[in-house]
Amino acid sequence: MENVIAAAQAIYTDEQRMLLENFRKMAEAEFAPLAEKYEDLGHPPDADTLKSLFAKVEEFGLISGLIPEEDGGAGIDRMTYGILYEELARIWADLAIAVLIQSHAVFAVNLLGDAAQKETYLKPLLRSERICATCISEPEVGSNVREVKTRAERKGDKIFVTGQKLWISNGAQSDFAIVVCNLDDGISMVIVDRDKGGYESRELRKMGLVGASTCELFFDRAETTDAHVLGNSGGGLFQTLKLFESARVFVGLTSIGIAQAALECAVKYAQDREQHGKPIGGHQLIQGYLADMATHLDAGRLLCQRGLQLLDMGVRCDTQTSMAKWYATEMAVEIAGKAVQIHGGNGITKEFPVERHFRNAKVMPIPDGTTEIQKLVIGRNLTGLNAF
Ligand SMILES: Cc1cc2nc3c(=O)[nH]c(=O)nc-3n(C[C@H](O)[C@H](O)[C@H](O)COP(=O)(O)OP(=O)(O)OC[C@H]3O[C@@H](n4cnc5c(N)ncnc54)[C@H](O)[C@@H]3O)c2cc1C
Repeated sequence: MENVIAAAQAIYTDEQRMLLENFRKMAEAEFAPLAEKYEDLGHPPDADTLKSLFAKVEEFGLISGLIPEEDGGAGIDRMTYGILYEELARIWADLAIAVLIQSHAVFAVNLLGDAAQKETYLKPLLRSERICATCISEPEVGSNVREVKTRAERKGDKIFVTGQKLWISNGAQSDFAIVVCNLDDGISMVIVDRDKGGYESRELRKMGLVGASTCELFFDRAETTDAHVLGNSGGGLFQTLKLFESARVFVGLTSIGIAQAALECAVKYAQDREQHGKPIGGHQLIQGYLADMATHLDAGRLLCQRGLQLLDMGVRCDTQTSMAKWYATEMAVEIAGKAVQIHGGNGITKEFPVERHFRNAKVMPIPDGTTEIQKLVIGRNLTGLNAF
């Protein structure tokens, strides 16, 4: 299998391959054991541990990489960033999700924040001293982002936020939250500090990615100020949709990492396990499965990498990022499912990692716009007709 991987990676530059190798060495040594540990514990790391993990990935620029050096970031091109991010997802997908949220909070505050907000929020994020959650979804608001119900009431220069958010990544460990809510002049993004404004979180128990926090957040007249409105007051919907464009590719890449891990398990098992007098990988049907898995995986990866390149070019690419997100996440479910099948009975036990890869893959077609919503975005852009 190494020869197949090496041939595919021949399109990477020498520098990208070297970075990948260094990152892999670190992540295999430091993160792989923790991935097992938190899987067994069945809950995410606490805030201090997560901050130290963020500091570790930041040695390779994975927290600050999406913003330029002049703004304090590592200023990595998205293709290179994506190569490292995929590898992180292959080794510990749960941490990759936490990194995705934190790095996009960095991206959002840098893009939309004023000087004071950058001082108070961006700098501590870059130093991995604080953790941010991004709150859009609510119990009654998932795919229909326009209909958020959380209210923000202005009183003088104070703002009071009231409402419930759902499925919030990094919610348990977060120090502050970017809350998409209704302010008097329309949907806006408002920053709420946990220690000042006060919000409560409750961890949700999931089928997969159990080492990544996903929470309910409760805001009961959580206090913040006018100076905490991020970007344009009333411009929160447009800002949210723009941020989705980038985040969606990384959700896709998370699935590519998970599927790569599942494929590697399947190939090894097919080489080792013998039935009917030869390794099962020597039977044509199993080879057919493996060929399908490897091809779908590469197609998903290439769609994601094209999305990264288009984002770097600064052109509108919501069609292409939606294609990358739905295809990569759905194919990963198929690939991980086939990997379980190739393992026979062993595939459904916790003795073999494919069971975890399958559960993790099944989570990913949902966040940042479900498969159905991605297809409606693509259909709308093809026809000019809005179906949702
Ligand atoms: C692991 C994880 C992490 C997440 N992290 C965050 C986070 O950090 N912040 C945040 O704000 N949210 C987060 N989410 C929430 C996520 O974005 C939502 O779950 C997602 O948008 C879907 O919303 P919903 O679950 O309410 O489903 P619904 O919107 O209720 O959809 C249910 C089903 O109906 C389909 N559907 C809905 N509308 C249509 C339509 N018009 N046509 C056809 N089908 C339709 C959907 O595709 C889906 O299959 C996360 C979710 C998960 C699973």
